[in-house]
Amino acid sequence: MITVMKFGGTSVGSLEAIERVSKIVLDTEGDKVVVTSAMSGITNFLVACCEDRINKRDETLDAFEKKHLEVAKTMLDDAQYQEFLKEFQPRMDAFTALLYDDTAADNPFYKDNVTSQGERFSSLLLCHKLRALGHKSVALTSEDCGIVAEGRPLSGNANLRMTETNMGINVLPYIAKGYIPIITGFYGINKDDLPLTFGRGGSDYAAAVVANALNADMLEIWTDVDGFMSADPRVVPAAVKIDEMSYAEAAELAYFGAKVLHPRTIEPVRKKHIPLKVRNSFRPEEKGTLISRYRESHNELLRSVASKCDLSIISISSPEVAYRPDIVAKILGKISENDDAIYSISTSLSNVAFLIDNNDVKATLMKLNELDNDEVERIDVESDVALICCVGDHLMGQSGTCGDIFSAVKEVGANVNMISEGASSVALNFVVPNGDVLPVIKILHKKFVEE
Ligand code: ADP
Ligand code: ASP
Ligand code: MG
Repeated sequence: MITVMKFGGTSVGSLEAIERVSKIVLDTEGDKVVVTSAMSGITNFLVACCEDRINKRDETLDAFEKKHLEVAKTMLDDAQYQEFLKEFQPRMDAFTALLYDDTAADNPFYKDNVTSQGERFSSLLLCHKLRALGHKSVALTSEDCGIVAEGRPLSGNANLRMTETNMGINVLPYIAKGYIPIITGFYGINKDDLPLTFGRGGSDYAAAVVANALNADMLEIWTDVDGFMSADPRVVPAAVKIDEMSYAEAAELAYFGAKVLHPRTIEPVRKKHIPLKVRNSFRPEEKGTLISRYRESHNELLRSVASKCDLSIISISSPEVAYRPDIVAKILGKISENDDAIYSISTSLSNVAFLIDNNDVKATLMKLNELDNDEVERIDVESDVALICCVGDHLMGQSGTCGDIFSAVKEVGANVNMISEGASSVALNFVVPNGDVLPVIKILHKKFVEE
């Protein structure tokens, strides 16, 4: 039985956290493989360094070294600390060389390389802590494992098939010999052997990729809340933990903004029916949320609500839309040339509307302007809107449930700009202005979860 355990930034963010996490790993039965994020705050620090590399590199290197060595010194005895340094120093030297390499800085994947550095050091700390406790452990980078990534800078996708082959060769033998591998999250290696990150929060996805590659029996995502909750607890303090969810429910909510899981975490585990648990590393006695193929229906109108802000609706008027599906295909073709995410599409007799990120509007308009004038009559853009994603039982099937949801939205005076209903069997999505998100989420939660 293999359990892949992922620990987030706060779960490895201090000496105490690393000690707590070591106990969680050792208390878990069967074979364990750990995937870790950088210590909390480190990736933000690296992002800031990329913005002003020449001025910030010395300060970054100093702070980086100090933070990791301080923890190592306190938790290891002298001999263990010397062993730690043997692995730490080459990684630190490589990082220093990277920040001083002016030619490398011109590479489009440079930022991926710099921001992926944090995971290489947190994994080392955890590995040496386990060794200090008398266990066999090995710290492996994504390079060592052969986690293959493809795609654009800062938003890679894993190649699951190649990663499975590589990890069969590079990681399974360690497990067979009784080692606990500690693997860097957040990034893979592209075809040029350069680090390519999976987007912010990407260690959850990396862990799901590792679970897929090793055909694990369970993936555990250990974080700083009790599980997947009915809303972001920072926004809705009354949010409650959900005991069980289906892959589809968790995938919709993660994709549309529930930060507890990276948007693409579910796909690699769903493919192989590997169950996933979200658990709290600060309260390991709490059972967490189980996400799997099946879950019982509890007749809850609303189970969880998430939101994604800073989106734009691009609305294209064309008199022919309803009679000319080829025009819709052409419009879609143009937009997809940029490879940007489209969060929702809706059509009417003479309109096609798309929901995309605010940052992608300019490039999308440039593509749409390449279409013929007789195919596109007018293009309207409404920016700074947010998508609200509601997941619940019978949201689609039962008459009146949509009405209940929208009456509640109306109570806070929010204007609904776009609705996507029926496209997913578990979610009801709609769009409101950015400024209405908080009151809408609060009232939906109050009426349909709390009451
Ligand atoms: P980690 O560093 O462990 O990956 P993150 O900060 O990325 O942790 O994700 C955990 C945070 O996600 C929680 O602290 C919580 O504030 C936020 N969050 C947002 N939506 C939800 C939700 N539906 N359920 C639980 N937590 C959520
Ligand atoms: N350390 C990375 C980030 O902060 C990846 C992660 O934490 O999942 O985005
Ligand atoms: Mg996270």
